[in-house]
This record gives sequence, structure tokens and C-alpha cells, in this order.
Amino acid sequence: METYNSDSFATRESYTAQIHLPGKVFEQLVWWALQALPDEILVGMDIDANTPHRPEVEEKFMGSEHTSGLFQGQGFTIGEAHIVNRGDSYSVHHLPEDWTDDMFSTSRGSRAGRFTHWLHTHPNAPAIPSHADADAAQETPGVDMILGLRFSPEGPLPWFDDVDGVRRRVGVEAQPEPAKSRKRSFFFRQNLKVLGVAPSGHKIHEIQLIAFRKNGLGINVILVDDDGLPYGWNALPS
Ligand SMILES: [Zn+2]
Repeated sequence: METYNSDSFATRESYTAQIHLPGKVFEQLVWWALQALPDEILVGMDIDANTPHRPEVEEKFMGSEHTSGLFQGQGFTIGEAHIVNRGDSYSVHHLPEDWTDDMFSTSRGSRAGRFTHWLHTHPNAPAIPSHADADAAQETPGVDMILGLRFSPEGPLPWFDDVDGVRRRVGVEAQPEPAKSRKRSFFFRQNLKVLGVAPSGHKIHEIQLIAFRKNGLGINVILVDDDGLPYGWNALPS
């Protein structure tokens, strides 16, 4: 989380807004993602109205193109998370009927507008939005997030890497993408770094986390502790 935040700080000029996610919620999301394998999960999240971003943190991570009022809940830390669906990359975005069965469902889209922010997982695939993801995001009042996990044993989901886009990794310093050669990736796979071992026994090699608005703009994610301070706060350049 410290290296992720230091990367968020270094790339702050690429973002027009930021969102603060508590580390303990993040940890829970990773665990849920592994428990649901091989499915993707869809998680709804609301803001904690009592916990605005700490102004000194907001200031520190603010880029020169910062814009206020970009999305619902902007300026507030994410509160609790709730799993609302699981399925494949298409069906995960379509909630079961008991979630959408009200008179507003048709006007609120496939997710019925229950939450401010949404996150879904990409098991053994990069955290980059698909077309279905972009469609689902059109109804999101806050931001959409994707949690990409690379783990082994891979089971039925070998790592899928043939996607273009910007990745944000947790636990490793930013580095150039390895060349996209099958041979290279085969050998690369044998030497994967292990970030940690999940209670499920899966070795976690890579965690990616991104947030974006429905117009495609990236939102900078800051992982914060119980005091609302980023992990690695004291180590950031002044
Ligand atoms: Zn997706």
C-alpha cells in the first residue's frame, strides 16, 4: 500500500480527482475476490459521510487540473463495502432481481443505483475496463473501480495479459511492461514474485487497482489508514 500511494503521488498530475479508500476495506476486497474464484464479484460502496478526506492529504495529492464536483461523494472517504453479485465478466454487472425489483429499476440501469461507488474484480486479468465495464459505469454516480489479481495456482483462469491500458499495481514500484512475447512470459511466469499468501492458499503475485469515471477519466486512489492518512505518508517527498 505504501508503494501504491507513492506511485499515486508521483502520477498525481495525470488525475483530475482523487478518492480515499481505507486499507482495511481494501484488504477485505482482496479476500472476497479470492473466495469467489473463479467468479468475478461486484461490490457496492458508499461514502462515510463523517469522514471527509483530510485536507492536508487532499492537498498533497492534488494535481494542477484538479476539478471539484466531478462525481457524487467526491471528497469523502469510502465507507463500508457490500458484495452484491458474482458471475462472469458480463453477468456480474447485472444484479439479481431482488436488487432491481422496484419501480425505479428501469431508469436506474442494470445496477439499480443502490450505491455511490462500484468495484468489480478481474481474476487473473489486468485491471483495465472492458466494453461491458464501460457500459455498466454509465449509471454510476460516483466512481467505478477494478481490482485485478494475479495469483497461482491459476485454476481455470490463466493470466490474460493481452489488453492495452494503464495499470496501477499494488506492492511493486512502477516498471516498464515486459515484452509481449509468449516465450518471455512463460519464463517470466516461473519467477513471479510472491506478495503474500491468501488464507485460501493462493499465492498472490500482483494486485492492480484502478478507479475511473464513466467518461473514462482516471481517478487517483489513495489507500488510507484509520486516521485517514496514506500508508507511507511520512516517506512522501515534501
Ligand atoms: Zn470488468
